[in-house]
Amino acid sequence: MATYQYRCPAGTHFEESHPIGRAPEAPPCPACGEPSRRVITAPHLSRTGSPAFRLIDSTNRSAAEPEIVISRIPGSPRRVQPYSSNPSHRKLPRP
Ligand SMILES: [Zn+2]
Repeated sequence: MATYQYRCPAGTHFEESHPIGRAPEAPPCPACGEPSRRVITAPHLSRTGSPAFRLIDSTNRSAAEPEIVISRIPGSPRRVQPYSSNPSHRKLPRP
């Protein structure tokens, strides 16, 4: 799908999505119903690799579900994992 821009004789701009190559020549304007002319615009292909586009893309992806999951509340003490479950090992000297 591609987004096509149109402008009606009254000057209203609107966009419609259609499969590439199948855009209608004169769709009716949503405001007044008059047949509208297509506005030729530059394709947005050059933006796909830019850092700005990647930021927008990742923002949209993480809108419903965050990418970063914090397992510990900042400022709370870290839980120390014991190296051994044997109680006698706790008596050994620590570094
Ligand atoms: Zn119109």
